[in-house]
Amino acid sequence: MRSFTTFDLQYAHRFLGFKGEAQYLHGHTGTLTIEVEDTINKGVNMVFPCNEIKKIAWNVLKNFDHALVLREDDPLLPAILKAYEEQGIKDGAPNNVMVGPKFETELAKAYPECRLVVTKETMTVEGMIKIVYDLLKDDLNIAKITFSSGDNAASQEYTVSGEKDRCPLCGILLDENGTCPKCGYKKH
Ligand SMILES: [Zn+2]
Ligand SMILES: [Zn+2]
Repeated sequence: MRSFTTFDLQYAHRFLGFKGEAQYLHGHTGTLTIEVEDTINKGVNMVFPCNEIKKIAWNVLKNFDHALVLREDDPLLPAILKAYEEQGIKDGAPNNVMVGPKFETELAKAYPECRLVVTKETMTVEGMIKIVYDLLKDDLNIAKITFSSGDNAASQEYTVSGEKDRCPLCGILLDENGTCPKCGYKKH
């Protein structure tokens, strides 16, 4: 069975070189749905706590919220960095508190201190799904990702292999020692 969660990300981007309005910088509220598939964890009678899916995903994906997403070869990138530098906000600001980890994958690199994500490919809804899967596939048994933004929407299904070890008392992932980081349950 599947548990899923949905949340919004507000971001600015553009489709570099695209022959249409989207080649200009603009913004969206994008809606992301992540479906997690596993056996039903008998102790709590759920696949996975939805708020926990959201917590794991948001920890990384908050880097995309109120962020600018630019392709690595976009000439706006050095211009933006220069402007942020001159303004003294490139390396952070006291009110930039929604800062996630500095991730770097094949597809995207986050600069959380200035709310910027640099991507290898154009960040279409399809591109975002690839980035999200790559970032979260080791932490969650992702069966499907759906992303919609403006009039654009896409989804991708994935084959899930194996069960994740979850706490029978609170449902969250056990750590490598078989201990629940939340309630202290120990697997025998
Ligand atoms: Zn757009
Ligand atoms: Zn627990």
